[in-house]
Amino acid sequence: MAVLLLAETTDGVLAFDATARAVSAVRGLGEVTVLVCGDKEAADRAATLDGVSRVVFSSDPALTHGLVENVAELVVSRSDGFAHIAAPATTSGKAILPYVAARLDVMVITDVAEIVDAETFKRPIYAGNAIQTVRSSDRVKVFSVRTSAFAPVADGASAQVEQVGGNGDRGVSAFIENHLARSDRPDLTSAKIVVSGGRGLGSGENFALIDRLADKLGAAIGASRAAVDSGYVANDLQVGQTGKVVAPDLYIAVGISGAIQHLAGMKDSRIIVAINKDEEAPIFEIADFGLVADLFEALPELIEKL
Ligand code: FAD
Repeated sequence: MAVLLLAETTDGVLAFDATARAVSAVRGLGEVTVLVCGDKEAADRAATLDGVSRVVFSSDPALTHGLVENVAELVVSRSDGFAHIAAPATTSGKAILPYVAARLDVMVITDVAEIVDAETFKRPIYAGNAIQTVRSSDRVKVFSVRTSAFAPVADGASAQVEQVGGNGDRGVSAFIENHLARSDRPDLTSAKIVVSGGRGLGSGENFALIDRLADKLGAAIGASRAAVDSGYVANDLQVGQTGKVVAPDLYIAVGISGAIQHLAGMKDSRIIVAINKDEEAPIFEIADFGLVADLFEALPELIEKL
């Protein structure tokens, strides 16, 4: 059995954490070949991941911006001999794998949170309220990995690295431009600490309290959908069913009620702390530490003490 794992890259740079978690998920299935759309540096970095047997990379410029059709064609062209084809369930992985599966005429299994055996996978459904067990008889299993469900593998290995060509530009879609929000903060999906604010903050200006607490802790910032919809922060900070899924060591939810759609994105966090003035708020049902308090009193005090 052999696994082809599409590494997560952004403009040719390896997203190390997401790729390391995906390797951790698939390594039990057989020999792992990591496919990198990027340069030799990205490939060499992927080759250090424990459990990787081989890294294949392509620096074809048609792949640089991760256009789905171009990347998917590369995956399909390299798929011979693999029983499993996987990628992290990121925005790009979720877009590319269905195309790959369609080209191979098999189904795609999304958001795999546990691999039971070579044919059987567990994945959350109903916003994480139920776990579905899926058995596939397809000749190739194409699936995306919920990275927050797997600890990253260590690095220190040195797998063989091989450069391959690309398939060029399919001419189906074109890259226009990227608008990137620059931040010195850790990436939300891989941060060890996340401080999230909800509607309880009351305004974008008050969200500065969340910034100050995150600064003290070296944390990433998250938000509930209500905070995003109210315009307090940008929507790339949204945590939950229709936002990002995170599982940090510490998740601090401030002024967030704990709707199931929010919990779907953070309930696997190692330690959950909730600050809410309503002692009946559902967030307290999953919190390890709960503080019933007015956030406008508790946060300045906490920041001061830290
Ligand atoms: P609220 O539910 O309004 O809670 C605010 C909390 O702040 C309350 O508990 C209140 O007691 C507390 N509070 C108020 N003032 C203070 C104060 N001074 N001090 C302390 N506490 C205070 N939501 C997400 O978050 N992520 C998603 O991905 C998501 N996806 C969704 C998908 C679908 C299809 C649907 C239908 C909904 C989705 N939602 C999502 C929305 C979700 O149902 C909730 O509406 C949302 O999570 C509520 O956000 P909130 O907790 O910030 O706001």
